[in-house]
Amino acid sequence: QVNFNQKIDYVFKIVLIGDSAVGKSQLLARFARNEFSLDSKATIGVEFQTKTIVMITKRSKLRFGILQVSGSDKCILQRCSGAMLVYDISKRQSFDHIAKWLEELREHADNNTIIMLVGNKSDLETLRAVPTEDAKEFAQKENLFFMETSALESTNVESAFLSVLTEIYRTVS
Ligand code: GDP
Repeated sequence: QVNFNQKIDYVFKIVLIGDSAVGKSQLLARFARNEFSLDSKATIGVEFQTKTIVMITKRSKLRFGILQVSGSDKCILQRCSGAMLVYDISKRQSFDHIAKWLEELREHADNNTIIMLVGNKSDLETLRAVPTEDAKEFAQKENLFFMETSALESTNVESAFLSVLTEIYRTVS
């Protein structure tokens, strides 16, 4: 059994940014209800708008706080370890705005911030306005991780968050 009174070794913050209505809060809600583990045990504690995820690994105990911000709060961006740039695959405009969000992020966030491009609402395939290849190309060019998710159908939500968390973990271990 895990003792959660144990000392926490690291605290990280992940922000979700992107246009409104792309599904940021649903992604977070979907993820926060799931349990996951990296290489041993994990659990999730939810508090207010900030989701705190405690990940116990073989070597250390990590705490990830996930914040969802609609605007681009400079102070929040400065202190995040990871960022998810979210767009809606059925809304071309939300993808076109990603470059602007990225610029904002690069301006304020630390150079080591792990960034993932997330195309949400992959269940709306019939309404798709952003080809997967376009997003992949953009991600490659900008050196971002990339994944398509559906908060509705729970597709790839956990793996998207886990990938970001794992990459952050890699940079400190
Ligand atoms: P936010 O403003 O980016 O936080 O967006 P929300 O999480 O509030 O979601 C906006 C709308 O999109 C809501 O009506 C959600 O139910 C819907 N939505 C969110 N994620 C998905 C998804 O994966 N698929 C579909 N079809 N709808 C979604």
